[in-house]
Amino acid sequence: MKYTGLTYRPPFEAKSLLLQVTEGCSHNKCSFCTMYRDIPFAEESLEQIETDLKEARQYVPDIPRVFLENGDAFCLGTERLLAIADLVHRYLPKVETITMYASVKNIRNKTDGDLVQLRQAGINEMNIGVESGLESTLAAMNKGYTAEEAFSELKRLKAAGMDYGANIIFGAAGPGKARENAEETARLLNETQPFLIFTGTIHAEPGCPLYEDMQAGRFTENTIGEYIAEEEYFLSLLDLKDTYYFGLHPSNVIRMHGFLPRDREYLKAEIGRQKEKLSKVLDLQPSRVSGEGGIIF
Ligand code: SF4
Repeated sequence: MKYTGLTYRPPFEAKSLLLQVTEGCSHNKCSFCTMYRDIPFAEESLEQIETDLKEARQYVPDIPRVFLENGDAFCLGTERLLAIADLVHRYLPKVETITMYASVKNIRNKTDGDLVQLRQAGINEMNIGVESGLESTLAAMNKGYTAEEAFSELKRLKAAGMDYGANIIFGAAGPGKARENAEETARLLNETQPFLIFTGTIHAEPGCPLYEDMQAGRFTENTIGEYIAEEEYFLSLLDLKDTYYFGLHPSNVIRMHGFLPRDREYLKAEIGRQKEKLSKVLDLQPSRVSGEGGIIF
């Protein structure tokens, strides 16, 4: 199998086949992201994709799920994605779901009809870096789309029959706008009902604009107590029908997971327990593991 540079996938895609269909990220400009800074964006050739699928068939002929790499594989045009889905089903006939990372920007360049066709080809449950529902935060993060577009594009995706998983970032607006960030992000998720929410906290490595802003004091990170308060408020605002709340990323102050609405009381109680346990460090900013952003206590 061909992979260029570091290959990233969400933790819950550990059992999926990782199939490279692009190199890098077509946007590559988010202020906090260094994942693909040194890798120019390129489309993988269909010949190489077919070669990889032939190889995969020898080892995992019955695999049910494929994750298309890299940073925002949904940027590819509809015809290209349909051709890739065709190849996947030809070589791996048990595949039920083809998924990938996607950006709101990538939905924008597809018609309603395109989205339905892609869903019919097995594309579903994409992991979308929503990050925030707050206009000023999306602009500061240079996500390349507005909050209004996030609402309308995610609604179009859902209307085409696609489920989606939302990545969101606590602390993305800084402590001064934490409540506003929680309110607008919860409103976006309530209106678009993702099947999964993957939470993390804002952190930056050398080589991205946010790192420079943090070093120069232009962006202040939440304290541990402010992260807890933001998550607690966010959770209290969520009104979801059936969503897996996945808060196990190492960058989180509180690592917990559960289904909403079923486990709401457990998640609230866990926040209370952790607040008590961390009472002596609530006013401190988190210390991070270099290179991965995990919080050290
Ligand atoms: S966060 Fe996602 S969309 Fe933004 S630059 Fe990184 S990989 Fe690309």
